[in-house]
Amino acid sequence: MDLVIATHNPGKFREIAEILGDLPIRLLPLASIPRVSLPAEDGWSLEENALKKAQVVAESTGKWALADDSGLEIEALGGGPGLLSARFLGEEADPHLRNQRILELLADIPLEGRGAQFRCVIAIAEPGGRTYIAEGACGGFIATASKGEGGFGYDPIFLVPEYSQTMAELDPAIKNRVSHRAKALLQARKILEALLEPPHDSSGA
Ligand code: IMP
Repeated sequence: MDLVIATHNPGKFREIAEILGDLPIRLLPLASIPRVSLPAEDGWSLEENALKKAQVVAESTGKWALADDSGLEIEALGGGPGLLSARFLGEEADPHLRNQRILELLADIPLEGRGAQFRCVIAIAEPGGRTYIAEGACGGFIATASKGEGGFGYDPIFLVPEYSQTMAELDPAIKNRVSHRAKALLQARKILEALLEPPHDSSGA
């Protein structure tokens, strides 16, 4: 089975490959397939965006596709940037500037008021056919300063309480156990394992 991983983000591809890499499935990076582009993330939910990406890529490649859409929801910002996380301060904005802006917006708020969660929805699509959804969330706090060099995106400002470290400071193997994407991927893994099983013969023959 070939599965196209519908992302241009190398950080996401790495995390996905770490959790699905040992399945008997060939994970194909989007960049390895000519002339396939991702649709705009203009849906009303993470699920809608993930499904749209997976379906468009499955249709245009004729292969199974997996896509994710993630968002950072900050309580003190009414759940923002949420669905708009990829467009906060503009689509091309530098992640460092986004993080600095969030720290400024929360500057006067003590740690207990800085609750946040990362959410991830993963969609798996068969060309012309079935679709499946998996979800994961990771609760934490927005740190008072940006810290750490690992991960990507909002990781340097997202404090994981169990480890008292930001996601960018965590050992990547730990991020890939506790993160929103890791939890969604473990569900996705179960879905893929079931799809790989040979069809059950119920005829009794
Ligand atoms: P998308 O899922 O690529 O649309 O991501 C939305 C935004 O959240 C982008 O700015 C990503 O960089 C950021 N993001 C997604 N997943 C993570 C993560 O695991 N850690 C930190 N930032 C993330």
